[in-house]
Amino acid sequence: MCPGPNPIKWSIAPHPTRIERAYLKLQCAKACTIPLGLEPPKLPRWHWDGNMQAPTVTPSINCSTCGLHISITKGAVIEASPTNPLRR
Ligand SMILES: [Zn+2]
Repeated sequence: MCPGPNPIKWSIAPHPTRIERAYLKLQCAKACTIPLGLEPPKLPRWHWDGNMQAPTVTPSINCSTCGLHISITKGAVIEASPTNPLRR
């Protein structure tokens, strides 16, 4: 559960040299960086659909830094809850 501002703030930062890579920046209690790529997910790198404005990232993100568990689909963040545990 995010104790910080809701909705959770996010942004996509391009990779400095590789077009098929990017970083998802999440701002909750902590600032976390999730590595993304266009290729199939191989954790700790998540699959990303290439959309900078309304990204879809799979599987769900269970952040090892802050404990936040979310999904992000077309730019919309959904937090895991007992009634919506999210698919990993
Ligand atoms: Zn985090």
